[in-house]
Order: sequence, then structure tokens, then C-alpha cells
Amino acid sequence: MKVIVLGAGVVGVTSAYQLARAGHEVTVVDRQEGPALETSFANAGEVSFGYCSPWAAPGIPLKAMKWLFMEHAPLILRPKMDTAMLSWMAQMLRNCTSQRYALNKSRMLRIADYARVSLADVRNETGIAYDERMQGTLQLFRTQQQLDASAKDVKALAADGVPYEVLDPEGCIRVEPALRHVREKIVGGLLTPKDETGDCFKFTNALALKAAELGVTFVYGTNIKALDVEGGTVRGVVTDRETLRADAVVVALGSYSPLLVKQFDIKLPVYPVKGYSLTIPIVDASRAPESTVMDETYKIAITRLGDRIRVGGMAEISGYTNDLGQKRRATLEHSVTDLFPGGDIGKADFWSGLRPMTPDGTPVIGPTKVKGLFLNTGHGTLGWTMSCGSAKLISDLVSGRKPEIDATDLAVSRYA
Ligand SMILES: Cc1cc2nc3c(=O)[nH]c(=O)nc-3n(C[C@H](O)[C@H](O)[C@H](O)COP(=O)(O)OP(=O)(O)OC[C@H]3O[C@@H](n4cnc5c(N)ncnc54)[C@H](O)[C@@H]3O)c2cc1C
Repeated sequence: MKVIVLGAGVVGVTSAYQLARAGHEVTVVDRQEGPALETSFANAGEVSFGYCSPWAAPGIPLKAMKWLFMEHAPLILRPKMDTAMLSWMAQMLRNCTSQRYALNKSRMLRIADYARVSLADVRNETGIAYDERMQGTLQLFRTQQQLDASAKDVKALAADGVPYEVLDPEGCIRVEPALRHVREKIVGGLLTPKDETGDCFKFTNALALKAAELGVTFVYGTNIKALDVEGGTVRGVVTDRETLRADAVVVALGSYSPLLVKQFDIKLPVYPVKGYSLTIPIVDASRAPESTVMDETYKIAITRLGDRIRVGGMAEISGYTNDLGQKRRATLEHSVTDLFPGGDIGKADFWSGLRPMTPDGTPVIGPTKVKGLFLNTGHGTLGWTMSCGSAKLISDLVSGRKPEIDATDLAVSRYA
């Protein structure tokens, strides 16, 4: 079958790789000049199979009000008269009940658990390297209140069968030796040892080469304008250069996915939530992290990627803009230098990306009402983590095979 994958981010490239392995003739189209040049470029590098939960949770609306007024705020809200933004925020609020949180989290964990196995398979099949490490995520608490509040996360991890360790400050230092210099700032931590880290950009680029070896064609520098649909069946894709023909089309355009499918009345509640990162060259490895440390106070992840520190976080709801605000840079610099001052901050690269967020935190993976048109998008905060799992799912669904895990509640029809 001829399949076109729209988007060469981590989700599009992993999808293309699996579709090629399943025997299809695959073309990937992207407006950029290479893979992973938008949101998959410089994310926080966490491959967080265990620490995987939706942002919409009970108590979040109240916490969000507090965050808005913090000096180093994890949440920034710039409301606009934009119906997509307002309706997405209303849906997000509706997902903040215990019942919906439990349902959404179980879906996310199902995909993440599948992704853990699928990523290991991809590594074994291809041998690609991407500054990967398998040393877990340490959630770091600076106050007793944060440590006490983690009891509910511990309960949830235990209920989901996710391995974890609750650590005192000495335990945190055992896992992350550089923390010995800031012993007095730490009250404790929660370690999810099965989590991994790695550079999403390097991974996606290396996998795109492997996909090309399997016969995938990459068409870069090409703007996707519209879908070509006749009689309720997809026939191809209209770009600014030509119309490409296909038997099936997979939309993996990240935050831009809803803009393409809305002409067919497919209401895809994916909205951009901007985040920021800094990538800092390491000059003193003894004061750098070993793996990922989640600074609970600022909701910022600090990750070791080879000879660099990647620090990323913040959620800014301000529409489709990649502006780089110096205030946001100051927050990242504050968090990283306070704990891990082993990098040359003057040489850091500052970046922003748009997380393609659904209001329930779960990606949208599956068919649509247009025959042959599939969605693999809306991976939000954890697209790097879930990509290999959702790629296998979409490949099975496009191929008409029964997926290895239940995917019936992951399609866009769940919002109907
Ligand atoms: C600050 C930050 C930190 C993060 N940290 C983590 C983390 O630690 N772990 C984790 O798992 N996830 C993390 N994420 C989330 C993760 O980065 C995303 O979920 C993931 O990159 C989304 O991948 P994607 O392929 O769906 O989208 P993208 O990477 O954005 O790919 C979409 C592609 O579509 C193309 N495109 C869009 N519209 C068009 C068009 N009209 N024509 C042609 N091409 C088009 C774009 O050029 C782009 O290449 C983070 C995100 C941010 C912003």
C-alpha cells in the first residue's frame, strides 16, 4: 500500500519506520529541511515511561492560580479571543476530576508501557545511538510539603505496578552525586528507576536514515496545503509543489494537525502549549546530573545528554508563537544553576517548542471518518516517550492488523 506520513517529527519518523517494516511504500512530507526541526528538536530528553500522567488532574485549577503569580512561574497564560483556545481550556478543566484523571492516566500508561518495549526493539534492530542512558528519573523535593504531597503519586505508581523508590537526601545523592554540593536544599526524592533519557533530535535523525534504508522517501521543504478527499475516501495530499497520491495518509503534524483536518469537520482538540529549553555545554561533570532530575518547585526537568545539560519546562498557553522571552530563560537558568552549576551558561542555546496537547493528555491514535485517513498526534508533554509505541499502533491500524494493545479508546471518536 502507498502511505504518506505528514510530518517528520519524532512521531512521523517512528510511524514511517514501522510502516516501512510492515511492507508499505512510504513517503514522509515536511516543511522543514530535515527531521525533528520543530517540537522534537530540543525537548527535555526524558523518556519517562513510569512518571506518565495527564496535566489535567484534581486540584490543578487551584494550583494553576498560584503558579500564575510565582516569580519563576511554571504556567503562563495569555488568553485570547480564540475559540480553539477557549474550548480547549474548558475541556481541560472538565478533565480535572478524579474519575477522568484515572481513566486518562491508565490510557497514557498503556501507551508508555508499550513504548518502552517498542523503543528497546528499535534500538536492537537498528543499533542507533542518541546519548541514551537508562538511569531513571529523580523527582526532587525541596520542601516537606512537596514530599508529603508525593504520597498520592507513590500510591498511583504502586497501583499501576511501576517500580519506584522514595529517597531521603542521602539516597538522592547516591543517585545524583552532584547534589552533595546542595545537600541543604533537598528534603527528599522519588525515583522511577526504569525511566530513560536521550536526545530526541539525534534519535529521530538516526531513525530517519534507517527508514530511508528501508525505502522510505523523505520530501522536505514542502508545505502541506490540504488533503485530497473524494467521496469520503482520502486520495492524497496537496502540497505547495504537487499533489501526492496515496492509499492511506497518516497525519503527524504535531500542534498543526487540527488545522489540516478541520475542513472535513474532524474536531481534533489539539492545542499548542509552549515550553522552553536551554542546552548547556558541560565544563565540570562533577556538578552535572547523571540522568533526569525533575525540580518539583519549578516543574523543570534537568537532563544529562552526553556532554550537555538540557533543562526544559514551563507551560505557556499563548497560541501558535515561538517567541523567546528572556524572563523564561531566567527561570531555566535559575533552576539549573541552583542545583547543577556544572555548565557554561553563557554558551547555552535557548529554544522554544509547541507541545501538541490534548485536554485529556492522551494522544489521538487511529482512524477518522474519512476512509484511509489516520491520526497519530496530540502527544503533548510526552511525545518522545510515547512515540515508538504509538508508531507501532498506527502501523498495525493502517495495515488492518489487530494492534498488540487495545487502541479502541485512543481514536478521535473518543471526543464524540
Ligand atoms: C520544552 C519541552 C519539553 C519537552 N520534554 C519532553 C520530554 O522530556 N519527554 C517527552 O517525551 N516529551 C517531551 N516534550 C514533548 C515532545 O517534544 C513532543 O510531544 C513531540 O516532540 C511531538 O512530536 P511530533 O512529531 O508530534 O511534533 P513535531 O516534532 O512538531 O513534528 C511535526 C512536524 O510537522 C511539520 N509540519 C507542521 N505543519 C506542516 C505543514 N503545514 N506542512 C509541512 N509540514 C508541517 C513540522 O515541520 C514538524 O516537523 C517536550 C516538549 C517541550 C516543548
